[in-house]
Amino acid sequence: MSTIDSQDCVVMGGGPAGATVGAILADHGRRVLILEKGGFPRHHIGESLMPETYGIFKRLGMLEKLRASHFPVKESVQFVSASGRDSQPFFFTDRDPGEWSRTWQVPRDRFDKMMLDNAREHGAQVREQANVKDVLFDGDRAIGVRAMIDGETVGIPARVVVDATGMNALLSRKLGIRQADADLKNASIYAYFKNAHRDTGRNAGATIIINTPDRKGWFWVIPLDNDITSIGVVAPPSHLFSGRGDDPLATFFEEAEDCPGIQRRLEKAECVSRAFVTSDFSACSRRLAGDGWVLVGDAFGFLDPVYSSGVMLALASGEMAADAIHDALLADDPSAERLGRFAPKLVDGIQMIRQLVYAFYNREFSFADFLRKYPQYHDDLVRVLIGDVFKNDLHDMFSAMKEYVDMPNPIRLDSGASIR
Ligand SMILES: Cc1cc2nc3c(=O)[nH]c(=O)nc-3n(C[C@H](O)[C@H](O)[C@H](O)COP(=O)(O)OP(=O)(O)OC[C@H]3O[C@@H](n4cnc5c(N)ncnc54)[C@H](O)[C@@H]3O)c2cc1C
Repeated sequence: MSTIDSQDCVVMGGGPAGATVGAILADHGRRVLILEKGGFPRHHIGESLMPETYGIFKRLGMLEKLRASHFPVKESVQFVSASGRDSQPFFFTDRDPGEWSRTWQVPRDRFDKMMLDNAREHGAQVREQANVKDVLFDGDRAIGVRAMIDGETVGIPARVVVDATGMNALLSRKLGIRQADADLKNASIYAYFKNAHRDTGRNAGATIIINTPDRKGWFWVIPLDNDITSIGVVAPPSHLFSGRGDDPLATFFEEAEDCPGIQRRLEKAECVSRAFVTSDFSACSRRLAGDGWVLVGDAFGFLDPVYSSGVMLALASGEMAADAIHDALLADDPSAERLGRFAPKLVDGIQMIRQLVYAFYNREFSFADFLRKYPQYHDDLVRVLIGDVFKNDLHDMFSAMKEYVDMPNPIRLDSGASIR
């Protein structure tokens, strides 16, 4: 096994989380290497952003690039009932008209490449087609990685290793600390359409969430550029896959047939891709950091697609991790305590969104009924929908919601120093 020069930090995975860590650490003057097993651009699901990404995009120097793109601007989220009745959209700009209240709907092949190229421009080294096979440990301390690069096995020593491998979750699976969220067991079938119906005006860029009959599942509708619309159905795997044959696109259309809200939008649409299938995506790790290692983005945890929070949480955790790593290296102490110092803030924020996810999946719960009784929480609800969840002050709304919904237990991380 040959060796590459020692790094301050090796980041495994070049998705939005890894690119964020890489760019910010390079800004701090750190020697950082991102290893990405794929070649960009590559397909990825997760096109709808949350406005709370704005501050991080600004720090990353991404705003100019996004403004110059043709990605549709997203200003709202709209829910549609199982009978096909459109609710009043939640317009983010009603509470604050600033640019930061809007965001973009991004084709992930191009967006992820923009993010990774941006990390390069900030000074991070990036190797694509570099498949990390293992994290190397000395006792409990991560000390580097072993990767396949250009057909050769290479050892790369590092003071800190970041796992940004998305749902592959290389390190948390190795350590046996990743746990599925048993109450959010879902799967998805999605495809891309041309000429699907679009709203006009302020709602043209909305993410639309459409319940299927009996609330067995729901569809997302996300408008992209070039008149392409991303449409997916989410439901328990038992509903989508058991006894349904082996053609996922046929299952998709069977689900659409029963759903007036999606029928209307698909009337003149033409499917221009194959069907993609994903399942068992909701999971969280029992630890965020250890001596010499940190988890970010989906590699730490993924909630559920319903509020489009994945990329925002990838960026936010990437930013928090990069600053914690820099400070730990300054103190020459990349210990679990220093690297994981942002755990309470991140986990509380995730829990805010998670509670609203549980409310969505509760068949008795209706946003309209809740807001009729508690109009004072309209603003708090929109704050969760935009991703403004890190200030820890949304508890009153969730206390009121307990009248309707059994809320999930808090996410608890293991605190032990030893992980192996
Ligand atoms: C059905 C569905 C719909 C979704 N919709 C949305 C949405 O609308 N909006 C939203 O914000 N989020 C959405 N998400 C979530 C979103 O896709 C993720 O949260 C987001 O991509 C996380 O970014 P990441 O950087 O952590 O991981 P990823 O984007 O998955 O990046 C991980 C990278 O690591 C690389 N990698 C993996 N293993 C290795 C290895 N061993 N060595 C080197 N590299 C490796 C991969 O190739 C990949 O490029 C959705 C998810 C699902 C399942």
